[in-house]
Amino acid sequence: MTPLGTIGSMPTVDKQIVILGAGLAGLTCALELARAGVKPTVLEREAIVGGLARSYSEDGFTYDLGPHRLLIHDADQVAEFQRLLGGELLHKERKSRIFLQGRFFHYPLQVGNAMFSMPPATTARILADYAWARGRGLLRPSADRSFEEWVESRFGRTLYEIFFKQYTEKAWGIPCSRISADWASQRISLLSLWDTLVKSLRKAGNQPRTYASSFYYPAQGGIGALCRAMAQEVESLGGQVLCGQAVTGINRKGQRISQVRAGDQKFACDELISTIPLNDLVKLNPRAVPAPVIQAADSLRFRAIVFVYLFLNRPAIADDHWIYLPEEQFAGNRLSESVNFSINNAPAGKTVLCAEITCDVGDATWNTTDAVLAERVSADLQRMGFADLHPADIVDIRTHRAPEAYPIYDIGYQERVNTVLAYGESLSNFMAIGRNALFRYNNMDHSVEMGRRAAQALLDRQDRKSAAQVATESQYFG
Ligand SMILES: Cc1cc2nc3c(=O)[nH]c(=O)nc-3n(C[C@H](O)[C@H](O)[C@H](O)COP(=O)(O)OP(=O)(O)OC[C@H]3O[C@@H](n4cnc5c(N)ncnc54)[C@H](O)[C@@H]3O)c2cc1C
Repeated sequence: MTPLGTIGSMPTVDKQIVILGAGLAGLTCALELARAGVKPTVLEREAIVGGLARSYSEDGFTYDLGPHRLLIHDADQVAEFQRLLGGELLHKERKSRIFLQGRFFHYPLQVGNAMFSMPPATTARILADYAWARGRGLLRPSADRSFEEWVESRFGRTLYEIFFKQYTEKAWGIPCSRISADWASQRISLLSLWDTLVKSLRKAGNQPRTYASSFYYPAQGGIGALCRAMAQEVESLGGQVLCGQAVTGINRKGQRISQVRAGDQKFACDELISTIPLNDLVKLNPRAVPAPVIQAADSLRFRAIVFVYLFLNRPAIADDHWIYLPEEQFAGNRLSESVNFSINNAPAGKTVLCAEITCDVGDATWNTTDAVLAERVSADLQRMGFADLHPADIVDIRTHRAPEAYPIYDIGYQERVNTVLAYGESLSNFMAIGRNALFRYNNMDHSVEMGRRAAQALLDRQDRKSAAQVATESQYFG
């Protein structure tokens, strides 16, 4: 066992460490602490662990809350997950496509290829616009504040409208002119049209440098198997993982949090790690929070997703891990089949199809019935040409709703995020980590790394600020 650190004058092992949220960040932190002899308490709002990376299994089908590819670049981390899953971590080649104007294109978009698949007049317009955008960029560089400016100055207006505008506005529900350029720099891997043209004209090596062509995925139990295995180990080492415990309040003594409340349950607390949404943090003890912080938190919004699952009495309809549907005419943004991630995710000869429909909590889509949602997804499939899909193939329907799927990067969000995070930092025994607690559109591997660093900080082996520094670079995350 590794030597223990201290928190203040008391050894860490004797402290009450409470972790809010049993997703990858919270459970990685809990496990790292439990292995060092600490007995953390993890409080989770949902009935099961896993957070956004949770999975459901029923009637022989296993499906995730939207498709999840695990990207790990660190061999030790792969070995760790293999160990947790008893060697049942698959390594897979990825296949994703975009369905646009009645045709399939590779994903990530190889703009050069896509452009030359368009009618000649459109290709000519794309090239002319591109030349114009580059020329203008040399004379009068764009400030690139918004997503629209960022993409247009690199790709030109026509490509922006065909490939980027529709999907982005559908996913986020706000105009691209109000979305921060940060989103583009993290999610569009193609640096310039010239670059992609050169790459696409070469026979090999036409993938963007940052494109991950393979990923990991559990052979059994869906992506949620990772968190379930971690939770089990935390408990076997003496920690607690309590599901169905939505945290409703905190008590403070000065700048220290002394107690956490979940309904009528109370938990003494020497250290608090939060992975719950950043704007919910201030609601836990609003009277103690300065008004500008509450204002900043109130203006941070998350985009929600309704996940619609069709259990089909037929084999997979495609061999993709997912297919993007950028056009307005489709209800869904993306389709996926978990059986293409692991054949164990459906009974032989059957598949479960997941459609993600982005919306806002409480809007018409969020509130509509399962039957209506299933009809919309079936209509999408018909429009895509999967005409052989018969209504009788659909043996069951499920839906799940994620209220905080995507932090919305509207212009100015970073300043407001910093205001709320600074309030968190003013509390002496508090750390925020993970995707929604940092309001950062990060991947699973980032949340794992944040959880690890937070535990290391509590064990005195890492700076407390180090966990929040994960995934802050302007890099490609896709
Ligand atoms: C549709 C979709 C697809 C994705 N695909 C990929 C992918 O392919 N690859 C990839 O690497 N990443 C992907 N991600 C991102 C990935 O899911 C997240 O980065 C990761 O799961 C976040 O883990 P986390 O622990 O930071 O946060 P979360 O998973 O959000 O965990 C926070 C936990 O806190 C709980 N909670 C919230 N409020 C309270 C409360 N008041 N009290 C107690 N508990 C509370 C939540 O229920 C949740 O369990 C995807 C995300 C989405 C939405």
